Amino acid sequence: MTATAPRPIRELPDELISQIAAGEVVERPASVVRELLDNALDAGATQITVRLSAGGVRLIAVEDDGAGIAPHEMPVALRRHATSKIASLAELEAVGTMGFRGEALAAVNSIAELSLLSRQAGEGGAWLLDGGTGELRAAARNPGTTVEVRELFFSVPARRKFLKSDATELAHCIEAVRRHALARPDVGFAIWHEGKLIEQWRAQAGADALDRRVADVLGDDFLAQSVALELRAGPVHVTGRAGVPDIARSRADQQFAYVNGRFVRDKVIVHAARAAYEDVLHGQRQPVYVLHIAIDPARVDVNVHPTKIEVRFRDGREVHQAVRHAIENALAAPRAALLAESAL
Ligand code: ADP
Ligand code: MG
Repeated sequence: MTATAPRPIRELPDELISQIAAGEVVERPASVVRELLDNALDAGATQITVRLSAGGVRLIAVEDDGAGIAPHEMPVALRRHATSKIASLAELEAVGTMGFRGEALAAVNSIAELSLLSRQAGEGGAWLLDGGTGELRAAARNPGTTVEVRELFFSVPARRKFLKSDATELAHCIEAVRRHALARPDVGFAIWHEGKLIEQWRAQAGADALDRRVADVLGDDFLAQSVALELRAGPVHVTGRAGVPDIARSRADQQFAYVNGRFVRDKVIVHAARAAYEDVLHGQRQPVYVLHIAIDPARVDVNVHPTKIEVRFRDGREVHQAVRHAIENALAAPRAALLAESAL
């Protein structure tokens, strides 16, 4: 490198800080879908509709029937590090909401055209905030919130070039909704693309809600060819379904693991599941499963990565053992369990 005259050290402008932060959180349209679904669920939504155009690049709209946002708070929601979900380190360490970093809306607003349409229950009307101009005006809507994101990466052409075909981006968006839907069978989800309804999963209630959601999202075959599992080991509670070896796949594309309702990719869990299938799966065959791990929030750090897809367990071994044993026990009696279920 050639020596250059030193440049003055300056703080970056706000807009650029947000765009840099957006690079961590928003890789593609599906990342936005995930953030907006997290927000809708945190707002207590029972029904969420996702509308997409051009694989989400042209439009992502997420409508919910949650708590809504007060008009004077709508501009605050778009500010960096502005959140209603935590107010202290103690709350971060016990966080039970999907969000807490207060950066998704600000980040998305810096790289796309964003608008917020919201109405709180008990209020007479709705308000629409244009994220670009900051203009707030009266509008119409049922209680709840709609976040619209248009022309993703319009201000970041370099990013736009990395996007794949609309069909591929759409598939990633659907996968994002699928992940949330498997976590929350009590919430109804619908996905529209170019004005056509492409997936709809109705809200489920009752003891077999998760099974019915699994059948809706992953298919009746997955349900029929998987075994229910449940294991409580100290502070760890594992529930879900493990696919029988026959339905193992060549790709690891049906492995859904959740920690306290959050979809995660975690080496400890993947390794534990792999170990549980060791004797019954050969070669590169990948097991299929849906695992819900409930654990005291104090025993898991969710603030490891901006996308929150990684977590760090205080004691990885206790989680590893619980997952491994939960699956092993379920696989040990698959025939008995399958017979018992088909008799219902
Ligand atoms: P975080 O989710 O980490 O708090 P976000 O940038 O995603 O940060 O959202 C900022 C704030 O905007 C949230 O804390 C919440 O108060 C509000 N908000 C966002 N989306 C919704 C929604 N769909 N319904 C109600 N409030 C919302
Ligand atoms: Mg959020």
